[in-house]
Amino acid sequence: MLALSYMLALLLTLGAASPLEKRSQALDDCLSAAGLSPISSSSSDYSSTVLPFNLRLQRFPAAVVFPKSIEAVSSAVKCGNELGIAVVARGGGHSYASYGLGATNGALMIDLSSLHSIVVDSDGQAHVGGGARLGDTALALNAKGRAMSHGVCPWVGIGGHAAFGGYGPSSRKWGLTLDNIVAYDVVLADGTIKQGLTASEDADLFWALRGSAPSFGIVTTYHFRTYQRPSTVIVSTYSYPAGALSSTTAAQVFLAFQTFGKTKAPSALGLKINIFKGKSVLAGASFQGSRAEYDQVIAPLLSSLPGGYTSSVKTLDWIGSLKEVAGGQPLSSQGASDYHDTFFAKSLMVPSATPLTQAALEAFFNYLWTTATSSNWFVEFDIYGGLGSNINARSLVYSSFAHRAMLLGGQMYASSPNYGLPYPSDNLNFVQGMYAALTNPMLGAWAGTQGAYANYVDPTLTKDEAKALYWGSQYPRLASLKKRYDPTNVFRGGLAIVGA
Ligand SMILES: Cc1cc2nc3c(=O)[nH]c(=O)nc-3n(C[C@H](O)[C@H](O)[C@H](O)COP(=O)(O)OP(=O)(O)OC[C@H]3O[C@@H](n4cnc5c(N)ncnc54)[C@H](O)[C@@H]3O)c2cc1C
Repeated sequence: MLALSYMLALLLTLGAASPLEKRSQALDDCLSAAGLSPISSSSSDYSSTVLPFNLRLQRFPAAVVFPKSIEAVSSAVKCGNELGIAVVARGGGHSYASYGLGATNGALMIDLSSLHSIVVDSDGQAHVGGGARLGDTALALNAKGRAMSHGVCPWVGIGGHAAFGGYGPSSRKWGLTLDNIVAYDVVLADGTIKQGLTASEDADLFWALRGSAPSFGIVTTYHFRTYQRPSTVIVSTYSYPAGALSSTTAAQVFLAFQTFGKTKAPSALGLKINIFKGKSVLAGASFQGSRAEYDQVIAPLLSSLPGGYTSSVKTLDWIGSLKEVAGGQPLSSQGASDYHDTFFAKSLMVPSATPLTQAALEAFFNYLWTTATSSNWFVEFDIYGGLGSNINARSLVYSSFAHRAMLLGGQMYASSPNYGLPYPSDNLNFVQGMYAALTNPMLGAWAGTQGAYANYVDPTLTKDEAKALYWGSQYPRLASLKKRYDPTNVFRGGLAIVGA
């Protein structure tokens, strides 16, 4: 069924079957000659192979390969390049826009799941395959007494995560996942293999990869700096029950959280605030240190929050803290299978210089508390910046990641009523509405300085909006490097830089 839809879609796109069939056959021949055993739409396992995490956005690659070495990735890229077919990597497959399948139908998808090895040296440097998952990476590091900064979902792939950012509870202390990359093993658009590529070998390429990797190469191994695993981590939540807060008081809770994050939270403290359907609000913290230190650090936040919350404070070891922030999910992917969702999300990054105002937050909560929707939605904002944030300690010269002066990073996310298909259009409108309710009152003050996080990619943005929100002033340099490193635009698989 999927295979048939794919053929129909391509016929509609290209208008004539013959050149398409010839190109597909040529791709198949090229990949087979390289020993890559491609899966195409006629293969019995095609449908399951191309099933996206976000069921809302299905795309149909022309062929899928599962290379087991960097040389095999290079051979596949050369096939795509020679035949003018877009080439795209799939790491963990968790792109919000299913970009691991390509931006449009007909791409060559290079699935990196066979390249999942994780090796930790005695000096603590970690070599993580482009197809590894975050949970498996954390476990392998933990076994050597090491840790690094990354997001909370164990199933997310390091491939996309480290390509565009990588934010988690320890990012204010250790920087984003991509801030800790010391070298790349990467295949470039013409199939060139670069192993152990450092900034001193090619500063421009390294800068571009660190924040925009999918437009410049396929990373087969990330080489990371890691940190000594903390002995204790305090994980806490402060929850207001459903319906307890008016929109005015909810805005005060948010403001207290934002002000504390900006002025008082040390870098060892990760902070988030969640808002859920049913009108509940939860602030959460993760702190590297002892309970006594935590109590001192968190006191100013607690004294500024309106009453009525219940608290939970747990003292955990490092790996226990990762399980806790993952909602109790197992960290290992071994013998387990991933779930799927059907959703739309928008991301917002709020500049440190112009935090959210009470008026904007009241408008936001008013919208959330009064707008009917069948979706299952949530909102999350994390403190990126503030006192001593090591995300903001880096300049724009350090990487092509564009957001080094943001206070908050967040997302507004709505799943379909049963988390499966179909996705009602009112759910999408609901997210657009909440984004507008929060941002419209701020647009004048921001004057274009707000941003969006590429790892929470929003495929409804126009090209110009995407340029401004994801890359801002970094875009012109990226566009000129794209022309140098990928002149024929081989890597055009979604959220791609266009050479200029
Ligand atoms: C449930 C869930 C929880 C999440 N939690 C967090 C979080 O806590 N913090 C956070 O920062 N983000 C989070 N994210 C966002 C996540 O970081 C991004 O979706 C990320 O891009 C997924 O990477 P992937 O490899 O799994 O996805 P894929 O779909 O495989 O890839 C995403 C993009 O990266 C490209 N890509 C993948 N691998 C490579 C590679 N090796 N080389 C070059 N390009 C590559 C793909 O072509 C695609 O464009 C979450 C996402 C989900 C779905």
